Amino acid sequence: MPGTCGTWPSSSTGRQWDVRRVSRKVGQVWVPKAGWLRFRWSRAVPPGAKSYRVTIDRAGRWHVAFAVIPDPVAAPGNGQVVGIDRGVVVSAALSTGELLPCPGLAARERTRLRRLQRRLARAKRGSNRRGRVRHAIARLRARETDRRKDWAEKASTDIVRRFDVIRVEDLQIGNMTRSARGTRGDPGRNVRQKAGLNRGILRSGWGLLVRRLEDKAPGRVEKIRPAFTSQRCSACGQVDRDSRESQAVFRCTACGFAGHADVNAAISIAAGHAVTARGGDGVTRPVNREPHLLLQSA
Ligand SMILES: [Zn+2]
Repeated sequence: MPGTCGTWPSSSTGRQWDVRRVSRKVGQVWVPKAGWLRFRWSRAVPPGAKSYRVTIDRAGRWHVAFAVIPDPVAAPGNGQVVGIDRGVVVSAALSTGELLPCPGLAARERTRLRRLQRRLARAKRGSNRRGRVRHAIARLRARETDRRKDWAEKASTDIVRRFDVIRVEDLQIGNMTRSARGTRGDPGRNVRQKAGLNRGILRSGWGLLVRRLEDKAPGRVEKIRPAFTSQRCSACGQVDRDSRESQAVFRCTACGFAGHADVNAAISIAAGHAVTARGGDGVTRPVNREPHLLLQSA
């Protein structure tokens, strides 16, 4: 965030909210029925914040989040179009060949998480120990979420500044996730394979990235029907499932073009035609906006 701390009034009283600054690092927020709560003034509050939300996350941290509609980022005006594939190998691949891996937990942190989960399974219900272990697990998970959010913010800002038009796959992530296991009457096929893929989707923060792109570049994000983008050769246009040599490698059975499978798909997406994903015309589509997390309690 830009350093706009100094411009924030020391006290602000309005219909919806009440926040005041106590010192450089400490603020107070009025919470109905709870009174004034102190918080660590961790980030600048930009002008235009209209309301706030006080929440507690899984790690037991309280947050004061101000709802700010991010200003749309001006298109660079260079006529450049980018396609972005929600990758299987990386979180997002650009048609430029860039791969954007969304950070999760480091190997050491994942090991610790597994150890904690085993410990949780052994801990007696309702015991203090169980509570402590659960809290430690929640803190690790919250760290992962923070990293994903941070990644989505930075990656989306970078992309909307560089390209006029951003094309992404129109994916129903929820549906894909739910259908893997199948129902009793119709057990899913390739369950294990799909479950791995779905974990990847959820971990990657893809949905978050797309939402942020739409926030920052309203009218410049186009959703493309994803049919066959993973099997289509971006060089000659042939569609053949056998061209998908592995998760990572695409090798066209017709023309021999070879490349990173996710980048190949991103190039097809960049060349795709927009489908009106939410019934809009791609220009005046309403966008859902999530408040930025601006302040974090101590
Ligand atoms: Zn080809």
